[in-house]
Amino acid sequence: MSGAEQPGDLTTAAALVSFRRRLNAWYRQHARPLPWRETSDPYSIWVSEIMLQQTTVAAVIPFYHRFLTRFPTVRQLADASEEEVLQYWEGLGYYSRGRNLRKAAIEIVNQFDGEFPRAVADLERLPGIGRYTAGAIRSFAFDLPAPIVEANTQRLYARLIGLDGDVASASGKSTLWSFAERLQPKKSAGKLNQALMELGAQVCTVSNPRCEQCPVPMHCQAFATGRQETIPTRKARPQLTHLVEATCAIHRDDRFLVRLRQPDERWAGLWDFPRFELSALKYEDRSTQRRIHKLIRECEESLRQELAVSVTQGELVHELKHGVTRYAIRLFCLTWELEGPTNIPGDRFSWKTLTELETTPMPVTGRKFVSWLKRRKNRVP
Ligand code: SF4
Repeated sequence: MSGAEQPGDLTTAAALVSFRRRLNAWYRQHARPLPWRETSDPYSIWVSEIMLQQTTVAAVIPFYHRFLTRFPTVRQLADASEEEVLQYWEGLGYYSRGRNLRKAAIEIVNQFDGEFPRAVADLERLPGIGRYTAGAIRSFAFDLPAPIVEANTQRLYARLIGLDGDVASASGKSTLWSFAERLQPKKSAGKLNQALMELGAQVCTVSNPRCEQCPVPMHCQAFATGRQETIPTRKARPQLTHLVEATCAIHRDDRFLVRLRQPDERWAGLWDFPRFELSALKYEDRSTQRRIHKLIRECEESLRQELAVSVTQGELVHELKHGVTRYAIRLFCLTWELEGPTNIPGDRFSWKTLTELETTPMPVTGRKFVSWLKRRKNRVP
C-alpha cells in the first residue's frame, strides 16, 4: 500500500484512479470469456442481461445462443408472436421477462426506429428495464458512464465502503448507487462495470471472499476492519411454502386438452394441462390405493365444476417435485379420457397432439409430463 492509499479511502481522486487501474489490470487477466462480452451490440447485451436476472451464467449460455439465432435483431423479435417468444424462453422461468422483452422490442421499433436509446431515462421507460439494466446497456454497449448495482456489485460496494446497515433499505440503496456513481470513469465505463461485477462474482463472493486474491484490498473498509464475513448483513431466507397440486391430461383420441394460462396467473401466456391446488394435508401420507382413489375423485369433481367436462378412466400415472421461487410443489400427474361432448371455450383451451405440444410453450412441469406421456405412448405397442 502506498502512502497515499488508506484502507477504504475511495473519496479522493488519487484513490479512485488507483482503484480503477488495479481493477482493470485484474480484469484483463481474469475475465471469463462470456459470449455477451464479445459484442457491443446493444440488442444482444440487453437479451443477455434480461436472461441473467435470477438465472446463472452457465444456464443462460445455451438459451442466449438459441434465442439470438431465432431472433437476431430487435426488429425480428418485435415481429414475433408472444407465443413463439415464450417457446424460446421455455426452461428459463420467470416468463414475464420474455413477455416484456418482446413488448420493449416493439417500443424500440415504434418509438426509436429500431435503434437502442442511449439515455438511462429512455431505457428505463421500456418494459422490463430497471435502473441496473439501463446502466448495463448504456455502459457495456456504448461505453458511456452509468452506475450499476446488482447482486454482485451490491455486496462488493457494501464491503468496500464498510456499510453496516441493510443494503436493501432505501438509505442502503441510495448509498450504494451514489458510491457506484462515484466509481464511474469518463472513459471505458463499460470495462470498469464489467470488472466490478466480475470481481464480485469471482473474488468478493457471498461466503469466504478471497481477499488474498483481491486486487483492491487496500481500498476496502471491510478488509481493513476484518468484517468481510459480516458485511453485507444477511437476511434470513424466507421459508418455503409447500403446495400439492394435480395436473390433469384429458385426452380425446390422440389429442390432449390444454389451457392458456391467464395474465393474472403464474406462467401467464403458457399452455398447460388443467391444474388444481389440492389440500396438502390430505395427501401428505404415503401412496396408498385409498389416497389415489380420493385424489382421482377430487380432481374429477374439480374438472366437472370448473371446466364442465365429464371424464372417465382416471389414473394417477406420475409424480413430480418442483420448486418455483418460494414454493416447493408436489405435483400429481393424472390422465383421463373425455366422456361425452364438451363446450369448452376455444379461446382459452385447445386440443393438441403430443407432437404439437412439443412446440407449444409450456411450463417446465407441463413439458416433463408431455415427455412422460410420449415415452408411455412409445412403449405401448
Ligand atoms: S478485500 Fe475482500 S472483502 Fe474487500 S473487496 Fe476484496 S475480496 Fe471483497
